[in-house]
Amino acid sequence: MAEPILEIEGLTVRIDGTKILDDVSLTIGAGELLSIIGPNGAGKSTLIRCLDGLVTPDRGLVRVMGRPLGSYTRRELARIISYVPQTGAPSFQFTVRTFVEMGRYPHLGSWAALGIEDVAAVRAALAMTETDHLVDRSMASLSGGERQRVFVAAALAQGGSVLLLDEPTTYLDYRHQVQIVDLLERLHREQRMTIIAATHDLNRTVPVSDTVLALREGRVVLYGPAERVFDCDRLATIYGTEFRLVPAGAGSPPLVVPAVNGR
Ligand code: ADP
Ligand code: MG
Repeated sequence: MAEPILEIEGLTVRIDGTKILDDVSLTIGAGELLSIIGPNGAGKSTLIRCLDGLVTPDRGLVRVMGRPLGSYTRRELARIISYVPQTGAPSFQFTVRTFVEMGRYPHLGSWAALGIEDVAAVRAALAMTETDHLVDRSMASLSGGERQRVFVAAALAQGGSVLLLDEPTTYLDYRHQVQIVDLLERLHREQRMTIIAATHDLNRTVPVSDTVLALREGRVVLYGPAERVFDCDRLATIYGTEFRLVPAGAGSPPLVVPAVNGR
């Protein structure tokens, strides 16, 4: 494995006495693409938020590049890790340009004006996500797919090497799902970014992932190479429902289809 960039040891989170995460351990190598899967309420979002320091665990430790996460300031952490939250409907009226520029805040001096490097980072992030044409639009006017790409643009402008995404393709139509997965794959292959995505997308996001972590009721029920997901018994254990695997083209993993009435 590449050098570890994130090490998670024995992470336990309790809310009102209930264990939301229970002794979760994993190591993420630099440049790895990891999918976090599991049913609703399994703890995927909580785990992602622990990795950005937004949730503090009751037990266990997260190390970022060998240093405990708690020893970083917000600003230091933001230069390494970007977080794309699950899409809601933002009511704010920023333009796309302003929103993506705000990604540069962790790099700005006390004058808070964008320098040449900041402008270049914003331009590159807009180009990578194919959102250049949207810069003068208000965030509130975007479609779900456009908004998701703009959030990724802001995360890229932030300039870190780790991207956390919470269900980046949920709520998107098929074309926009494909665009986001293509983008993640390009960032993974071309920019060697470390990408951690909570997802239900077993047929597109998981196949481009190196590794998968499956959670159920806060516990790890599968952790390993992504191919291991394509097993009906494992899928049934993870999601508590039956699945069928349908052969796809040569060299592609099978398609995962939830069985309805045993079919
Ligand atoms: P997932 O993202 O896998 O759907 P979450 O991490 O959002 O799961 O939630 C895991 C469990 O923790 C759920 O049962 C959820 O209701 C609970 N939970 C998460 N955050 C809170 C909170 N702030 N207060 C109370 N319960 C919470
Ligand atoms: Mg969630």
